[in-house]
Amino acid sequence: TPTTPDTPATTGAGKAKTDETPVLLSVRHLSKSYGDHEVLHDVSFDVPEGGVVVLLGPSGSGKSTLIRCLNGLETIQGGDIIFDGSPVDTSSEKEWRRLRNSIGMVFQSYDLFPNLTVAENIRLAPLKVQKRPKADVERQMDALLKDVRLTEYRNAYPRELSGGQKQRIAIVRALAMNPRLMLFDEVTASLDPEMVREVLELMLRLAGRHMTMIVVTHELEFARRVADTVMFLDDGTILERGSAHDFFTDPRTDRARGFLESMA
Ligand code: ADP
Ligand code: MG
Repeated sequence: TPTTPDTPATTGAGKAKTDETPVLLSVRHLSKSYGDHEVLHDVSFDVPEGGVVVLLGPSGSGKSTLIRCLNGLETIQGGDIIFDGSPVDTSSEKEWRRLRNSIGMVFQSYDLFPNLTVAENIRLAPLKVQKRPKADVERQMDALLKDVRLTEYRNAYPRELSGGQKQRIAIVRALAMNPRLMLFDEVTASLDPEMVREVLELMLRLAGRHMTMIVVTHELEFARRVADTVMFLDDGTILERGSAHDFFTDPRTDRARGFLESMA
């Protein structure tokens, strides 16, 4: 039933309930420097639960650095990261280790362990880090492999897979941790064109299942389809943020317009 604006929101677990989708990740005034080179400057944004944020920007604008800051792979010089309602102690490696159970990440280079089979790659962290029961992990792995149509590669080694297959396994490996948030940094950038599509289609399916994702990509057609929100990063600053439709049809800044033209 609708409430009048004057009615206080009912509270549960100390949080005001609203009709809005909850925010999963909140970044406030984040800054990151290498030496005296400030690479990220006062970056603030929210990612709602189930939302897909696509991060675009020219090479060197700070996209990878931002993604790495969100996974604790870089120390930050200022700002706050709030994950699932709790401020992250960004200086604590222990806290990041805990958070990496909830934040999956896939990079451009296939980072599968070459000496382990596909199955061993996938179940390693769920078993060793999350200490989940083997039967449970196996069941989930079977379902994930089936979903990406790679069941028959279960006992293969990464070198026996194509680039596109390796990236799908890398994504599956991250998903096997049951992450709340997935970070993707140019995961198709080193793939042959014919393999790009199978990886992008998997990411589109994940978005369709309401996986919360931050995606760095140069595939603009895909970006337009997958994004709820586009953020355009330029020289370490978020210059534009808005719906994919608005960004692609009518970018507000010359920098974004120039970027889109350069990619066309
Ligand atoms: P993008 O992913 O958008 O291409 P990056 O985040 O990789 O951009 O880089 C942003 C800036 O930070 C660039 O100027 C780059 O040279 C610099 N940079 C990235 N990593 C390092 C590092 N480890 N040490 C020093 N400078 C770095
Ligand atoms: Mg990069």
